[in-house]
Amino acid sequence: MVTGGNRGIGAAVVERFLAGGHKVAALSRGGTAPDGALGIACDVSDAAQVEAAFAAAEAAHGPVGILVANAGITRDGLLLRMSEDAWRQVIDVNLTGSFLVARRAVKSMLRAKWGRIVFTGSVVGLYGNAGQANYTAAKAGLVGLARSLTREYGARGITANVVAPGFITTDMTADLPDDAVAKSLAAIPAGRFGDPAEVAAAVEFLTQAAYVSGAVLPVDGGMGMGH
Ligand code: NDP
Repeated sequence: MVTGGNRGIGAAVVERFLAGGHKVAALSRGGTAPDGALGIACDVSDAAQVEAAFAAAEAAHGPVGILVANAGITRDGLLLRMSEDAWRQVIDVNLTGSFLVARRAVKSMLRAKWGRIVFTGSVVGLYGNAGQANYTAAKAGLVGLARSLTREYGARGITANVVAPGFITTDMTADLPDDAVAKSLAAIPAGRFGDPAEVAAAVEFLTQAAYVSGAVLPVDGGMGMGH
């Protein structure tokens, strides 16, 4: 199951798992999905919708063994101008939404004595970013979430990790002003932005690595080194 699987990084993850022979359910508010995946409409910040989405995925494919909690949004602004609504909405989708799908997935993973959870964090979760207090707090929260799950369920065959992308070319980064793009580019040792498929490859690795858990795997061209 991949949340936010209809476009951007999530769609690349869906396509990578389909190519690997997996049955994939892709959740998004719109409910569309790449060809070959089961599209399910679900707002991940709503517990009842998450429950219904798992029921639909299980009916079609059986229990969820691999969860990629990737759905995310931004509502940027400097702290002094950030509304409570902008704070709550980003925390609700990026952090609470990840908690809700992880909590539901762990149930069947415990029964199976096997499970893989990957949260899509961000380089800025540990680095910080002016204008993104809500987003960076949510992404840093995913690190604590993955590490607590690792301690709770590590002995039960379940791993939980965070992939931390840097600047990846998707809809999320499409509308950034030119000066923000130039500033970001200057901070990336690789000298370019990343491709969603490069994040998907790291996600797949984390689902194959039985002895990697509670880790934060950067896919950022070196942007966040040391953080
Ligand atoms: P996109 O904006 O391209 O995609 C976001 C995805 O999340 C869409 O599939 C969207 O589907 C889904 N989504 C948003 N809100 C909800 C919701 N409430 N319930 C269910 N699905 C939702 O972004 P990216 O592909 O770039 O981002 C994917 C993840 O990667 C995010 O968590 C983002 O924070 C993270 N990331 C991205 C980086 C980048 O540079 N692009 C860098 C670091 C991290 P729909 O709108 O149909 O609901």
